[in-house]
Amino acid sequence: MSIMKTVAVVEAPESVRLQADGTVARELSERRGFVCPQCNGSGYVMRDNAHGELEKVQCDACMGYGSLKARILVEWLPDNPVKY
Ligand SMILES: [Zn+2]
Repeated sequence: MSIMKTVAVVEAPESVRLQADGTVARELSERRGFVCPQCNGSGYVMRDNAHGELEKVQCDACMGYGSLKARILVEWLPDNPVKY
């Protein structure tokens, strides 16, 4: 069985500079279009209501959109800094 996967490749940036927060670079990216695993992309789930009947309710994971996005933050920091 074949599956599609999204792979993030981490490579050091071309230029860096020490920031006040101790990082030397920060990269933020988003990837969209991941099928919501809770509702399987439908945007809703079936639940019992107070009368014991099944009803469609908005998926609380994807808020009814049926898909999720991934926000990927990479922070570059000194690795085992040596104090002089
Ligand atoms: Zn969902």
